[in-house]
Amino acid sequence: MQRRKVVIIGSGPAGYTAAIYASRANLQPLLYEGFFSGTAGGQLMTTTEVENFPGFPEGIEGPELMLRCRKQAQRFGTELVTEDVTNINLSQYPFLVSGSKTNVCTSSIIIATGALAKRLDIEGAHDGEFWQKGVTACAVCDGAAPIFRDKDLYVIGGGDSACEEAIFLTKYGKKVYIVHRRDQFRASKIMAERALNHPKIEVLWDTVLTKIEGQDVVGSVKLQNVKTKEEYKRDAGGVFFAIGFTPNTAFLNGQLELTENNYLKIFNHTKTSVEGVFAAGDVHDSKYRQAVSAAGDGCMAAMDAERWLSEKGLL
Ligand SMILES: Cc1cc2nc3c(=O)[nH]c(=O)nc-3n(C[C@H](O)[C@H](O)[C@H](O)COP(=O)(O)OP(=O)(O)OC[C@H]3O[C@@H](n4cnc5c(N)ncnc54)[C@H](O)[C@@H]3O)c2cc1C
Repeated sequence: MQRRKVVIIGSGPAGYTAAIYASRANLQPLLYEGFFSGTAGGQLMTTTEVENFPGFPEGIEGPELMLRCRKQAQRFGTELVTEDVTNINLSQYPFLVSGSKTNVCTSSIIIATGALAKRLDIEGAHDGEFWQKGVTACAVCDGAAPIFRDKDLYVIGGGDSACEEAIFLTKYGKKVYIVHRRDQFRASKIMAERALNHPKIEVLWDTVLTKIEGQDVVGSVKLQNVKTKEEYKRDAGGVFFAIGFTPNTAFLNGQLELTENNYLKIFNHTKTSVEGVFAAGDVHDSKYRQAVSAAGDGCMAAMDAERWLSEKGLL
């Protein structure tokens, strides 16, 4: 069985950046880029223009950015495996990482498996319908796009994220509606009050989104009051899901400490609960969730792994 100094799991901005740093440090990393777990390249493969990644003043398409990161990682010798990691064994050392076809022993691991934005399974919200044509899951990323300017925007959810995203969107939209299926928010008191007191925000309580319609981009939404069962249609320029994320941590089978929402728990920047295993990006970060913060994390995880290997005399 092959032996590595570092195995990186995940191929978003965090994983590829970790690979760039680890390969430039001559650690000859092996990177599992995923297969069924999501598109290799991560969440940015599902978006169009990325306008807030430094170095691209004109913006860059998400897939193009990730292709460049991938090439940069390969340029310095990262070996890519197009498989999901199905299992890791941290009770043995060197650790064992198993993909669908390969097994590898490794002195350290960087987990950068990201997270998946939850979407409602309703007509109009899927890929090939209006996803990324007015339907998204990231107001900070997409809110400034011209298609949302001076339009009625709908944020779905009732927690802190929904309130925060709605407040953010008031800078661009004509009016922002928060669609919440209950009659009160789950959000913290301070966030809820900010949203409730905002003159451009209206909350549609006891309401669910049932359908998204339009021509080329979102044009209207169908809503239903869950108490009265009344269904009605409204003009809409955008739909923003703020109903949470699922961090990709299930494959760890409880071998690393997780938060109550199943994010990886980290200690002192990138260290996990097991020595020699590091985390980077959205798999542990439920707060910033940006490509540039994930990339920064990837850099730190690779540098922490290298230092740890050096301290242990494993280089
Ligand atoms: C629609 C949308 C638009 C966005 N727009 C922007 C934007 O404009 N600007 C911005 O800064 N951020 C944006 N974001 C957020 C940004 O995409 C994320 O913060 C960033 O991609 C997180 O990077 P990551 O490397 O941590 O994880 P991810 O990008 O989620 O990548 C994780 C990777 O790990 C792989 N993986 C998962 N499990 C396994 C496994 N078991 N084995 C192997 N591989 C595995 C997945 O297939 C995936 O490729 C957007 C997000 C979305 C959803």
